Amino acid sequence: MKADILKVVMEKDPNQREFHQAVGEVVESILPVLDRNPEYRKAKILERLVEPDRVVLFRVSWMDDRGEIHVNRGFRVQMNNAIGPYKGGLRFHPSVNLGILKFLAFEQVFKNALTTLPMGGGKGGSDFDPKGKSDNEVMRFCQSFMGELFRHIGPHTDVPAGDIGVGAREIGYLYGMYKKLVNEFTGVLTGKNLNWGGSLIRPEATGYGSVYFAAEMLATKNKTLEGCVCLVSGSGNVAQHTVEKLLDFNAKPVTLSDSSGYIFDEEGIDRDKLAFVKRLKNVKRGRIKAYAEKYPHALYTPVDPALDYNPLWDHSADCAFPSATQNEINEKDARNLVKNGVKVVCEGANMPTVPEGVDIFLDSHILYGPGKAANAGGVSVSGLEMTQNSMRLSWTREEVDKRLKMIMHSIHQTCLNAAEAYGSPGNYFKGANIAGFVKVVEAMMDQGLV
Ligand code: NDP
Repeated sequence: MKADILKVVMEKDPNQREFHQAVGEVVESILPVLDRNPEYRKAKILERLVEPDRVVLFRVSWMDDRGEIHVNRGFRVQMNNAIGPYKGGLRFHPSVNLGILKFLAFEQVFKNALTTLPMGGGKGGSDFDPKGKSDNEVMRFCQSFMGELFRHIGPHTDVPAGDIGVGAREIGYLYGMYKKLVNEFTGVLTGKNLNWGGSLIRPEATGYGSVYFAAEMLATKNKTLEGCVCLVSGSGNVAQHTVEKLLDFNAKPVTLSDSSGYIFDEEGIDRDKLAFVKRLKNVKRGRIKAYAEKYPHALYTPVDPALDYNPLWDHSADCAFPSATQNEINEKDARNLVKNGVKVVCEGANMPTVPEGVDIFLDSHILYGPGKAANAGGVSVSGLEMTQNSMRLSWTREEVDKRLKMIMHSIHQTCLNAAEAYGSPGNYFKGANIAGFVKVVEAMMDQGLV
């Protein structure tokens, strides 16, 4: 059955490697659900799930500071809205293509179903690279991008947010243009700044949620994060707030990275050093190498394309929090992590581990929290931002954090229950896929063939 559906997907779109990977992982997990529910096969549920409801592809032309014109591609993949309006981030990165956005949108459908909130799944973005661009260039790009996107989104239709390359600055420019075009002040984007409709804890939510999820997993073994040495990759939104929450739990984060290299700080990244990283990345838009210039005891290792593994994952540690991008842990990295004594892998990024690596984690019975569950805190607080927008009020930091913690607790329990019910106790990977799948599919079955 897995082979059948993958054949269809690969024949239709042979170049969408990441999408094939995401579909393969979900289908593998949900085979026992299909066995128990033959009506899902009859209703061609899988065939319907892998075909987006709609894909919008558009030209984004913009002018740089020297008056030169550039043309990028914009996308929005509206994957499935069986349980609520499409919801999912926008990614601005030169690697963006339809296959990557379809993988992210597909993952998002099941992730959103796990959050307990009524949100469908979507994803979008552009092959535009904000790195090295001035604020004015980024603004002009965002305005041009929204000049087309606005007609496809809305607070009850599709509510985008940030992702790689789309942070508070980009959301601001996108929202400004949306508001001007539709002449409405509505909650059509999440991740907005606080004083114009944003939610407290939204920027922090993915990283915080990932750490809460790791703490939940450890609690099943009567352990805590206290004193744990943690490898964190990335140095953007998710990585920064993962480090912040790890410090709250008295853990010891020792690495951060960007696409040029990584730093290893054996003494631990403390709050002052994290403040430096936040300024470096969010204000100066610099490279992580500067960390080792500021703190010379830390080791900087540039990316070496000749290596078939990432040395960041080859340090002795208790926990690993991949928080940069997809497929950043290959098979050898996974082996190194297990060999070096890592007992927890908690995915802040989406699909950061290749399938062979996932098998290694599952076979070695470490605590492995897949991205779909572990990084669902971001979209959960986006859901809470939408609720606050429609109620026209703002909850306190404590209130949002309390709800985030409750949601991560519930996602963790839902994964465990689903894994147990389908004969794979303790397998969060299967549990997340099964629980998300069942919720979406039941809604699709109720709503008929549409
Ligand atoms: P940011 O743009 O804030 O940061 C991304 C970080 O990852 C940067 O340090 C970047 O380095 C690094 N990175 C990106 N691409 C690569 C690459 N190809 N190789 C090595 N490093 C890379 O993004 P976020 O922190 O928001 O997102 C990180 C991950 O978390 C993504 O997988 C995203 O999908 C996922 N995620 C994010 C959520 C959110 O709320 N923001 C929610 C759920 C998941 P550089 O600066 O050099 O590009």
